[in-house]
Amino acid sequence: MTDTPDPYRREHAFLARDNRAVTHDEQMYSGALSFCRRRYARDLQGADVAVIGVPFDTAVSNRPGARFGPRAIRAASAQLAWSQAWPSPFDPFEALSVVDWGDVDFDFGHPDSVPGHIEAAIGSVLQQGTAALILGGDHFTTYPSLAAHALHRGDGIALIQFDAHCDTGQDDGHRIDHGTMFRHAADRGIVDPRHSIQVGIRTTYPATNYTVRDANTVHEAGVEATVHHIREVVGDRPCYVTFDVDCLDPAFAPGTGTPVCGGLSTWQAKAILGRLGGLNLLGMDVVEVSPPYDHAEITALAGASIALELLCLYARCRAAR
Ligand code: MN
Ligand code: MN
Repeated sequence: MTDTPDPYRREHAFLARDNRAVTHDEQMYSGALSFCRRRYARDLQGADVAVIGVPFDTAVSNRPGARFGPRAIRAASAQLAWSQAWPSPFDPFEALSVVDWGDVDFDFGHPDSVPGHIEAAIGSVLQQGTAALILGGDHFTTYPSLAAHALHRGDGIALIQFDAHCDTGQDDGHRIDHGTMFRHAADRGIVDPRHSIQVGIRTTYPATNYTVRDANTVHEAGVEATVHHIREVVGDRPCYVTFDVDCLDPAFAPGTGTPVCGGLSTWQAKAILGRLGGLNLLGMDVVEVSPPYDHAEITALAGASIALELLCLYARCRAAR
């Protein structure tokens, strides 16, 4: 036996690690791909955050492919595990115990049963006192996630939605559709639209009780004014951040179902999220990464970077409360 660390134990997705913080000790280009090299676990004892994949994409109105999103985001995140998150002044993995829960299982042959499976899986994590970072999947996956969070919370929550689309289209109230679920969420009291804000919008929807900060306003007024607006609307209420990757311009996120020109850059999105510390943040997701339409992993890397930024944000919000 020797005291020298075993170089062949660098497989953090399933082997225990001595130090949960990010280190350089695993290859970026090989190994089992969990989110940021976190250990896969269903035992959530001591876990602050569980990363949950939802490989569901049959609610899309245009291009499919977001079912491959969780896998692609995990793969791209291996690059981010190489060093401490930037520009965070602290390591989110030192501040938080984060595990990769794996993907939600459901039967595509019974599509009406899928939302219930997603809600139950996320609800079971929340009941164990662990917060969820969800990797979609198309944007409909946010609906059962919000339902699980609202049920756990017992009240309508404030939604901070980054998106090119409001996703508040009118329908019969029962569709499984990634363009209408935030109307359902408001109508059913899952979300409180009066304290919710939609950021980066650049498509036309009927007016609702949600506050909209469109993409042009973000560009013209800048990051600080956007942060101020979000804080003003949300205040101290329990909130959930959902990041539809099509909030980013197609130049920064080509691999998505319904791209729209004129969107945010990755740095703008990261800068806004990086300034939202102190919110009463319950949960978060990144959705609509569609690898079949991606090029050079641009969108997967953007999705992984936003997910990591959300973890940093969650750590700051938790520390402040
Ligand atoms: Mn959306
Ligand atoms: Mn969208």
